[in-house]
Amino acid sequence: MLSQRARDIKPSPTLAIDSKAKAMKAEGHDVISFGVGEPDFDTPENVKEAAIKAIKDGFTKYTAVGGIDKLKDAIIAKLEKDNGLKYARNEIIVSCGAKHSLYNIMQALLGPGDEVIIPSPYWVSYPEQVSLAGATPVFVRTTEQQGFMLTPEAFEKAVTPKTKALILNSPSNPTGFAYDRPALEKIARIAVRKNIYIISDEIYEKLVYDGTQHISIASLGEDIKAMAIVVNGVSKSHAMTGWRIGYAAGPAQLVKAMTSIQSQSTSNPTSIAQMAAVEALTGPQDSVLKMAAEFDKRRIRLWEGLNSIPGFECRKPNGAFYAFPKTSALYGKSPEISSSSKLAMLLLEKAMVAVVPGDAFGDDDYIRLSYATSMKDIDRGLERIRKTLEPFA
Ligand SMILES: *Cc1c(COP(=O)(O)O)cnc(C)c1O
Repeated sequence: MLSQRARDIKPSPTLAIDSKAKAMKAEGHDVISFGVGEPDFDTPENVKEAAIKAIKDGFTKYTAVGGIDKLKDAIIAKLEKDNGLKYARNEIIVSCGAKHSLYNIMQALLGPGDEVIIPSPYWVSYPEQVSLAGATPVFVRTTEQQGFMLTPEAFEKAVTPKTKALILNSPSNPTGFAYDRPALEKIARIAVRKNIYIISDEIYEKLVYDGTQHISIASLGEDIKAMAIVVNGVSKSHAMTGWRIGYAAGPAQLVKAMTSIQSQSTSNPTSIAQMAAVEALTGPQDSVLKMAAEFDKRRIRLWEGLNSIPGFECRKPNGAFYAFPKTSALYGKSPEISSSSKLAMLLLEKAMVAVVPGDAFGDDDYIRLSYATSMKDIDRGLERIRKTLEPFA
């Protein structure tokens, strides 16, 4: 019955482990989840108020497909202020989440015969979205020693005449690392020279630590800006995952095509959520800073705790809300923990702790833990992991 496309697609593996954890919770088990990929904070009050006002004002009809001008202008101002980027309205599209922006980009830019370079470990949706567009994902391994940043050598080696684009995600889900300026400059030079588009997913921009500065690769010069599509949104920065507002900024011709695709699928993102996003971007930003400060404290606690578990080795992450410890030292100890999936399953069943196996992100040597959870649960979860793995150490 199903199309080849539907048969080929893999459901999100991060959602799979999360649903098993939820099922155990529903059965009454006290599951501690390090699996989730969304802030545990509530959406800021001023943002909620803006949405309520939009409803009361009757702002509840179709809007322009690619977003209302008011929101586009707020995005333009944000990109200029935070990233030093200048865009016009026809270079901006608002979609139903950054994931939807990425989907539109892939559909508008890629087709059969195109190759897309994806540094691994990668976010789970990139390869699937590339494949859905008929193009071919090409994985290039990055290493912990290099801070999980794509090196210019590895990038250049992966380029073929078919290479159409490179996907960058900084700060990264799952690694928790951000690219530094020198690394981005080298990548940008190669992309410009070889005519390769850069899809830059900057959704974790606001979550950087230890003085790390987020840099948008598009800001490194007019030549690279012309080849770059910047993707961002309010989900992670403003604890607004359920509102489904994301956006992309890039060449007008591409944005126009993305808008046409969107016009035949979802039409506009929710009118009310657009008004909420205007407030999120233009209103007071103290809640963003407060959330980032809390994540920072948890980051340190989780990172220190992970390194105290025998067999775990974790480099200090400097972005997003993930720790990505290397766990492969344990895999030889017992068949029960001989891979990241087996380890994750054991932790869920025996410790009642949910983590995401690294193989979901293309690297079996690691597991991902999200610290979008309370300090208390971080402590309890670490203790349970330690106890459960004690016999294997
Ligand atoms: C959460 C996430 C997104 C998607 O965010 P939405 O705006 O909620 O669709 C995009 N990229 C990465 C890497 C993410 O972790």
